[in-house]
Amino acid sequence: MPQQVYKLLPETIETMKTYYMKTLQSPPQGAVFRAKTPNAVITAYKSGKVLFQGSDPEAEAEKWADGKQASPKKPKNNGKNNSFAPPETLLAGGHIGSDEAGTGDYFGPITTAAVFVKKNQIELLKELGVKDSKNLSDDSIRQTAQNILTLDIPYSLLVLRNEKYNKLQKRGWSQGKMKAILHHYAITNVKSKIDSSETEGILIDQFCEPAVYKRHIASENEQMHDRMFFKTKAESYSIAVAAASIIARTSFLKEMDHLSKIAGFTLPKGASGKVDQAAARIIKTRGQEELNNYAKTHFANTKKALNRQ
Ligand code: MN
Repeated sequence: MPQQVYKLLPETIETMKTYYMKTLQSPPQGAVFRAKTPNAVITAYKSGKVLFQGSDPEAEAEKWADGKQASPKKPKNNGKNNSFAPPETLLAGGHIGSDEAGTGDYFGPITTAAVFVKKNQIELLKELGVKDSKNLSDDSIRQTAQNILTLDIPYSLLVLRNEKYNKLQKRGWSQGKMKAILHHYAITNVKSKIDSSETEGILIDQFCEPAVYKRHIASENEQMHDRMFFKTKAESYSIAVAAASIIARTSFLKEMDHLSKIAGFTLPKGASGKVDQAAARIIKTRGQEELNNYAKTHFANTKKALNRQ
């Protein structure tokens, strides 16, 4: 039986679990999840190892190629752990943080925010309750975003709406590439608003290996910014990333409100069975073409919605 083995980042495995929600099976011992699609059986282990076995394992595996961990065989930079890990001086000083929202949601855009926080604003932002948006309710996220935006904080917010997303996806862009390009331009915008001497550097909430990020940027003839750092769950360490995460999430919520309004009913977040139902409703009342304006149509939800017709 053909098979593929990837070593994937923990956050990629989390995204996969949501993505394959409808096809989950009971996992074998030590596994995080197991899913079965027409192409392959996918088994993800706590070690990050993910096994794709079946008639066409590549078809499933390649969807997640951006979330690969660097090969452990590669020599690490002179024994130093990771040259892309942010130094303490970055987190304690003025820096740019960047994060995105909407990537695991079938409906709605990807929103990306980059935010510059000065050293002397860190404490104030903490007092305003700026922290990881994953731990905040939607309402308190909106409120906190409003509070942030009353301060003098340079930021850039980019929204990749569904029509454009689907166009890029059909042109062969992975979601990882879209995210990398969005982060890159958001950071470029913020940098143009500030004096580079004010910032210790840039921190991205890591969604792929830095080398992969660099490759995506290069593929659009751009250059990765200097003093770029990557860290998973960066919003828990960096107030700038936490602020970016809140602004991106609030924008995503607003976009979802807007799309729900034109759809005539509330579009659910995520990628679960409820989402399939909502997609089926749009197909039934407006035709499949219309999904293009609301959803990331390459997600498995589209097929499931069509099967409900
Ligand atoms: Mn993130």
